[in-house]
Amino acid sequence: MTRMDALPADFLRLSARLGQDPLLVQGPGGNTSLKRDSLLWIKASGTELADAETQPIFVPVHLTKARAEAHGAGDGTCLAAVADPVNRLRPSIETTFHALIEWPVVAHFHSVAAIVHGISPEGRREAQRKLADLPFDMIPYRKPGRPLTQRIAQTYQRPIQIWLLENHGIICAGPDVASVEALIDEVEARLAMPMLFQPTAPAIDPPEGFAWLPEANVLAQVDRLRALALGGSPYPDHVVFLGSGLPLFDPERSQPAAIIARKGVVASLSATPAQRAMARCLADVLSRVPPDWQIDMLSAEAEAELLNWDAEKYRQALAKRKAEA
Ligand SMILES: [Zn+2]
Repeated sequence: MTRMDALPADFLRLSARLGQDPLLVQGPGGNTSLKRDSLLWIKASGTELADAETQPIFVPVHLTKARAEAHGAGDGTCLAAVADPVNRLRPSIETTFHALIEWPVVAHFHSVAAIVHGISPEGRREAQRKLADLPFDMIPYRKPGRPLTQRIAQTYQRPIQIWLLENHGIICAGPDVASVEALIDEVEARLAMPMLFQPTAPAIDPPEGFAWLPEANVLAQVDRLRALALGGSPYPDHVVFLGSGLPLFDPERSQPAAIIARKGVVASLSATPAQRAMARCLADVLSRVPPDWQIDMLSAEAEAELLNWDAEKYRQALAKRKAEA
C-alpha cells in the first residue's frame, strides 16, 4: 500500500508540474518530498515526477532514521528507513538531503537555467548576483547521494531555502507547497537564459534504425556546441543515461544517441524515453551558455564514480574511444 491519498493534492500537482516541464526535469530525474508527522514522503527511485498525480511514486521513510543516514548512519540509501513494510519502492538516492533539510516541502530538480549557471565559473558568479537577496547557498559538485548531502550539511543553515548544486541542478524548500512553488517561479525567472541557436531540419534521411532528434540537432550543427558535446558531460544524469558526452555516429556500435556532424543528432529507435530526454537536455543546456562563459565538464574521475568504474580503467576506455573517433 502506498497511501497516495495521504498526500495533499497541491503537493502532487506541483510534483507533476515540475516533472512535465523538460526545462525543469528530464525523465526520472528530480525529486520532491513532504514531511508530515514523523514521516518523510519522498519520490521513489526510477519513478517520474510527471506521474505524481496518476501513479503511486512516493514512498514513506522514517524521518529520524533518514536524517541519521544523512549524518553517516547506515549505508545512505535510506532503504532501512522505509516506513511501509509492503511498499516495494526504493527511496530516491537523493533522500538523505531531503531529510537533512528541515523545511516541510523540498523540491529538487534539474533546471536547465540552474544547470547553465552551475556548470560555468562565470555563470556561478552571475547566479550569486541574481540570487543575492534570497536565502541561497552554492554547493560544489559531489556525487549524488550521501557525498552530496554531506557537502550540503557542511554549510547548512536553517533559513536557507535555495541550494544551487554546481554541475547538477537546484533545490528549493519552504514551509508549504504554495511558497515553494512561488520560490521556484521566482528563481526560474531570475536565472532564465535564452536559447542562442535554433536547430534546422537536416536535409538528409537518418541512418536506418535511427530517427532525428529535432530538439537536439543544434549540437551537431553549431561547431562550438558539437565540440562541447563530444568532449564530455556537464552533469551526472547525462553520464548515467548516455555515457560520456555524445559520440559521433558509428554504424558499427550500439549507440542510443549520436551526432552526425553538421547534420543533426540521431536517437536509436530502441533508445529509451529517458535517453532521448537526456540528449535533448544537453542541447537545451549548451545552446543557452553564452560564448564567453567557460564550461567545467565533470572530470573522468567523477564520471567513473557515477558508473561505478575503476577510475584508471575508465580513463583508458575514454582515451581509446576518442582515439578511434
Ligand atoms: Zn539530482
